[in-house]
Amino acid sequence: MADEGEQQLTGELTISAEIWLVCERCGGRIRPTGSPGRCLCGGLYHVEFPRPAVLSTALFEQRLGSWQPLDRSGVWRYRELLPPLPIDRIITRPEGNTNLYHHPRLAEWTGCPDLLLKHEGENPTGSFKDRGMTVAISHARALDARAVACASTGNTAASVAAYAALAGLPSIVFLPSGKIATGKLSQAIAYGARIVQIAGEFDAAMQLVQEASSALGLYLLNSVNPFRLEGQKAIVFELLHQLGWEPPDWIILPGGNLGNTAAFGAAVMQLRAWGLLDRLPRLGVIQAAGAAPFYAAFRSGFRDFRPVMAETVATAIRIGNPVSYERARRAIEFTDGVVEAVTDDEILEAKAQVDRCGIGCEPASAAAVAGVRKLVARGIIRPGERVVAVLTGHVLKDPDAILQYHLSEEQRPLANRPVTIEPTLVALRGALEHAL
Ligand SMILES: *Cc1c(COP(=O)(O)O)cnc(C)c1O
Ligand SMILES: [Zn+2]
Repeated sequence: MADEGEQQLTGELTISAEIWLVCERCGGRIRPTGSPGRCLCGGLYHVEFPRPAVLSTALFEQRLGSWQPLDRSGVWRYRELLPPLPIDRIITRPEGNTNLYHHPRLAEWTGCPDLLLKHEGENPTGSFKDRGMTVAISHARALDARAVACASTGNTAASVAAYAALAGLPSIVFLPSGKIATGKLSQAIAYGARIVQIAGEFDAAMQLVQEASSALGLYLLNSVNPFRLEGQKAIVFELLHQLGWEPPDWIILPGGNLGNTAAFGAAVMQLRAWGLLDRLPRLGVIQAAGAAPFYAAFRSGFRDFRPVMAETVATAIRIGNPVSYERARRAIEFTDGVVEAVTDDEILEAKAQVDRCGIGCEPASAAAVAGVRKLVARGIIRPGERVVAVLTGHVLKDPDAILQYHLSEEQRPLANRPVTIEPTLVALRGALEHAL
């Protein structure tokens, strides 16, 4: 694997001398003056920077009332916990500020009375990807990058396209042809990304974008880019802030490429090391049964890891060879976490439940809720424990999955089929017989 850390990006003077990229495999250190790819040894980098001398959660609390753009962002509000990028290069919508929901019907359906849903679908482009994008694109701007690129299962593409447009940078997204949910593809087109469809799987698109990044000097916004994970840590910062820095017993999230799992683990480790958290929440990662290599590895006590051919209705987690496997494994080990798998039927059923409560989410997000139900049934989540499940994406991301469930030939419990009638009151009475 070629080192993509050496490109002709010219803005390195704007990057603080305190920020380093440290290889997680060989321990090698480089300055983040190029598009961050892999280390020469094949390992991934994480971002390292020092703890500020003055740090307390009161700082974040004060910012809640401020109208400064950085204070209003649910990412940059926590900037002391993030790499110190040059303030004047930051691109923010602002992102985050997502709600925590409790709904009695979901509490009952999952068997978890103290279930809270953190709705990351409320981010600017409708998924948590925006939290990482604001940090990575701000790094790209600090380097005076000419253009940005990514391979994506959809939501990354939508986020890259929007943030590049905000920054006034050209963007190129590589998509596996025919495998992208309609809402996500439409967003990437609308925001003006150059879209290249690859005849092949996501993993092939990923391979090509890495080669293209070196050959063409594009700043790469894939999840190998550790600045994205830095931003995604803020999901944990913000939810702890919302809970008065009293950690829940569990944080449950869906896992695909496992970048978010890695980011959650990194957030918890950092808060612990920097003295802001004394009790650790346990992480629960939920995979789709048709794309569950992390689950299989967990079951083997992490002795064995094998990539799989991925297939699931939840396209955002349809990944057979997760990039962040090693760091996600550390996150599970550090937090005494668990990994579970749920079938497509369980995912669609959980999604119908979340949607029917008026909250709504895309299929991959519903995997987290299906996972809570399963972990309760298996006695792993115990009665009385507080659980935060992360809804990763918005209900409108994948309209086809909604129709697939509700218009299915099979009798789905919550199916809601539209009816067509003659425009008469008699016909209407007939149609509404069971509805009122
Ligand atoms: C990206 C994404 C995921 C998976 O996150 P990873 O970091 O790849 O594990 C889950 N849900 C949604 C909606 C996503 O966009
Ligand atoms: Zn290395």
